[in-house]
Amino acid sequence: MKTREHKNKTQENSVGILYVVATPIGNLEDITLRALRVLKEVSLVLCEDTRHSRILLSHYGITTKTESYHARSDDAKMRGIANRLIEGENLALISDAGTPLISDPGSPLLIYLRETLGEDFHVVPIPGVSALTTALSVVPVPSGRFSFIGFIPHKKGRQTAIKAMKESEDSVVCYESSHRIVKLLSELEEFFPEAHVWIARELTKQFEEIKEGSPAELKALLESKPEKQKGEFVVIVSKK
Ligand code: SAM
Repeated sequence: MKTREHKNKTQENSVGILYVVATPIGNLEDITLRALRVLKEVSLVLCEDTRHSRILLSHYGITTKTESYHARSDDAKMRGIANRLIEGENLALISDAGTPLISDPGSPLLIYLRETLGEDFHVVPIPGVSALTTALSVVPVPSGRFSFIGFIPHKKGRQTAIKAMKESEDSVVCYESSHRIVKLLSELEEFFPEAHVWIARELTKQFEEIKEGSPAELKALLESKPEKQKGEFVVIVSKK
């Protein structure tokens, strides 16, 4: 099968490709064969955290050079990446877990490269895991319709976001941390008590579990068993 990446390889003096590569969200086996090949073949892997990603790369015997690209990376960093692509290098962008750009760094870089390289900018997605689709693949949201809001703001705008969940026609999916999961359930209990909520915790990991109920029921469960407040969460809020 001829793909855009094969076509590019045959062009001489062409600008390199930026591969945006999805990596596992816990279980290291959740990575595609194509992702592993690309991570081996590129000249540099841009990582949100090089030390974190080295665990994955070493697990698969991948010795490709790594460099950091994260939310605080500046213009000089992006210019350096653009120059490498102009020189014809193929690069990969990965985040700590899941699909880059989905509540993860990458959007400013892609905007910068599009502006700097114009039509020469070749970006290729290497699809795979995201906590969002992993949760949705086992949670039967009504009609399969949902709206994804990423992380709810910690302070300013938080109440508005929670009230908007109640107004939404569709199920609302968000990411939440272990520090705020009980707070979120309390807020839902206050502003949207009749909601039906799923919490998908530690997906693909040892303590994976999916629980559903009203905000009050789930809050009581987590308060009675503090170990269930640990880890990473996807929260899905639906009308009954
Ligand atoms: N780019 C990632 C993706 O594609 O899913 C998301 C990155 S975001 C910084 C991290 C958040 O995703 C966590 O705080 C949690 O809400 C969610 N998440 C990541 N891994 C998860 C897992 N194994 N189980 C449940 N939620 C997870």
